[in-house]
Amino acid sequence: MDDRHDIDAQVNMEGLRYCPRCAHELGERHVRGHSRLACGRCGYVFYMTPAPVTCVLVVHADEMLLVRRKYPPKEGQWCLPAGFIEIGEDPSESAARETMEETGLEVDIVGFLDSWASGEDPRTPIVCYAFEGRVTGGSLKAGDDATEAAFFSRDRVPDEIAFSTHRHMIERHFLEPAERASSNSERSGSDKETRTR
Ligand SMILES: [Zn+2]
Repeated sequence: MDDRHDIDAQVNMEGLRYCPRCAHELGERHVRGHSRLACGRCGYVFYMTPAPVTCVLVVHADEMLLVRRKYPPKEGQWCLPAGFIEIGEDPSESAARETMEETGLEVDIVGFLDSWASGEDPRTPIVCYAFEGRVTGGSLKAGDDATEAAFFSRDRVPDEIAFSTHRHMIERHFLEPAERASSNSERSGSDKETRTR
């Protein structure tokens, strides 16, 4: 199975024609405020909801952990360690698991950073939860959906970041410490900055 076939097979709603419950043809129906695929025979409604995803910012010695994507969408481009939450999994558990699978590094999830809805993944609309992780063990080795995993300093972040939301998180992280540093130097002689984030 080639990658193009693979991603077509993963698209959630497009191309669905028959009811998964009774095999009658599906049609569009207005249900609870949205047009949805529904079965005219057994009443089954296909509720297309966003898939929950996590991504993780892992910074070590001022460098950020990124992975190179093995599969579409955006194969070959870099992004934060990320993936779909499995059934029964807490978002923070999912974030740590994906980081381990893709980079070989154990992380403690030490903070929640942000969340957003995105239509950038052609497979499905998503809601992403972004966490901050701190390395506690393991050894850096790409795996699972990643062909490479590496730490990047601010001036060496790759040009091609797979998702604009990930780029935004990366830029925001690298911007904030700089802004803090400049505001600290302006206040030199006054109280020390003790807040770290
Ligand atoms: Zn049906």
